[in-house]
Amino acid sequence: MTLSLYDTYAREQREFVPIKDDGSVGLYCCGPTVYNYAHIGNLRTYIFEDILRRVLELNNYLVNHVVNITDVGHLVSDADDGEDKMEKGAARTGKTAWEIAEIYTQAFFEDLNHLNIKAPTVICKATDHIEEQIAAIQQIEAKDMTYITSDGVYFDTSRDPEYGYLARLNIEGLQEGARVEKGEKRNPTDFALWKFSPANEQRQMEWESPWGKGFPGWHIECSAMATKYLGPLFDIHCGGKDHIPIHHSNEIAQSMACYGTRLSNYWMHGYFLQTDKSKMSKSSGEFLRMQTLIDKGEDPIAYRFLCLLAHYRSDINFSWETLNSASTALNRMREAYFQLPDGGSTDDNYVSRFTAFVNDDLNTSQVIALAWELLKATDVADADKKATLTYFDNVLGLRLSEWAPAEQAEIPAEIAELVEARQKARADKDWAAADKARDDLTALGYEVVDTPDGSQVKTL
Ligand code: AMP
Ligand code: ZN
Repeated sequence: MTLSLYDTYAREQREFVPIKDDGSVGLYCCGPTVYNYAHIGNLRTYIFEDILRRVLELNNYLVNHVVNITDVGHLVSDADDGEDKMEKGAARTGKTAWEIAEIYTQAFFEDLNHLNIKAPTVICKATDHIEEQIAAIQQIEAKDMTYITSDGVYFDTSRDPEYGYLARLNIEGLQEGARVEKGEKRNPTDFALWKFSPANEQRQMEWESPWGKGFPGWHIECSAMATKYLGPLFDIHCGGKDHIPIHHSNEIAQSMACYGTRLSNYWMHGYFLQTDKSKMSKSSGEFLRMQTLIDKGEDPIAYRFLCLLAHYRSDINFSWETLNSASTALNRMREAYFQLPDGGSTDDNYVSRFTAFVNDDLNTSQVIALAWELLKATDVADADKKATLTYFDNVLGLRLSEWAPAEQAEIPAEIAELVEARQKARADKDWAAADKARDDLTALGYEVVDTPDGSQVKTL
């Protein structure tokens, strides 16, 4: 069954044909800017990329999955204005830029773990690849496509006739509209390849270069590292849809200048998680991170399930209610799966329908509907249902086989009596006796939790 994926570059779904014929696929995904925790919107994009990787693996490809860590050079505005997000994060926390990069990189790995996102095959940090970035800028300079301003080395986008094709940018319209704001830039779409350290300021992250002390631009990081690990033309490049007009358009321009390629054969973009119809973002104040959800007692896999209920190319509006319904549905699926006996084999009909859905541009919501249909089916043996769902879960990643209902601890008779005594005292409004029973329970290492469904006893 052929795999087809939506390619933003072509603006259509195309049959996936790998560049190499050795069964390998090169996949580059823009990673986090580690000046803060990832918010659950960022994590939605990584979940989509994880599904893509798992579907490629289902199709028997060996995926070389490269993710970068942007630990320098991403400025407050994607268009190269304002402060460096890392230095700003350092000022906010009182730590060094290197320290915060380390803290938030570790937090990113923890988030991936919580969400059952497979670890990338290569993780590369921008600060470990300064040489490669300088070499790439020199190649662009040799093509006479750069110029120098008082604050850096810039890419002259007017020298690339294809510039902005990915985003179908209206370059003339942009030229008209931005005449005043472009400062020393020749064209509004020009972007920094190298920024000079400000003369009056000691930056924490800076390097020597042929053009002067400074740091690389964000866009050159990704194309230099992608090329290093995957070559000048690889299979798939991913990111969130906000990257289409600037970051990815610039990566393509750089690659065209260096190698005459569009860097990647397919360009795929995940849509947003929004709150109240606006994009969740790190820079605009409050945002929800995975740990916020965990602290509220939510299950990270329920968030993954929520994301899979929508197609990756449609925005999701986040609310606690939708997370709750996703969690309830997931628990129903887990219970049902848990009840099924082992020892069966996969059902051909359901496996082929499943493959058709995932190979049709990663249609996970259809797969979840299919999973419910399978659970209700009367013509599939229970053990075969389990084997088939386990097969689906290689792509869905819901950890179905790892789940078991919480064990109800054996309550000793003495404890059960105290709980009953407390309940009777409460019914009689004898609060002193009720409190005493609670204290006795605590002394014995038990705690009573009052829920809408009655009192439950737990070990402390
Ligand atoms: P950043 O750490 O800001 O560089 O973003 C990491 C990834 O998350 C990128 O692929 C972004 O395009 C993506 N992203 C940013 N905001 C959102 C959002 N609200 N929903 C989904 N993806 C997002
Ligand atoms: Zn990138």
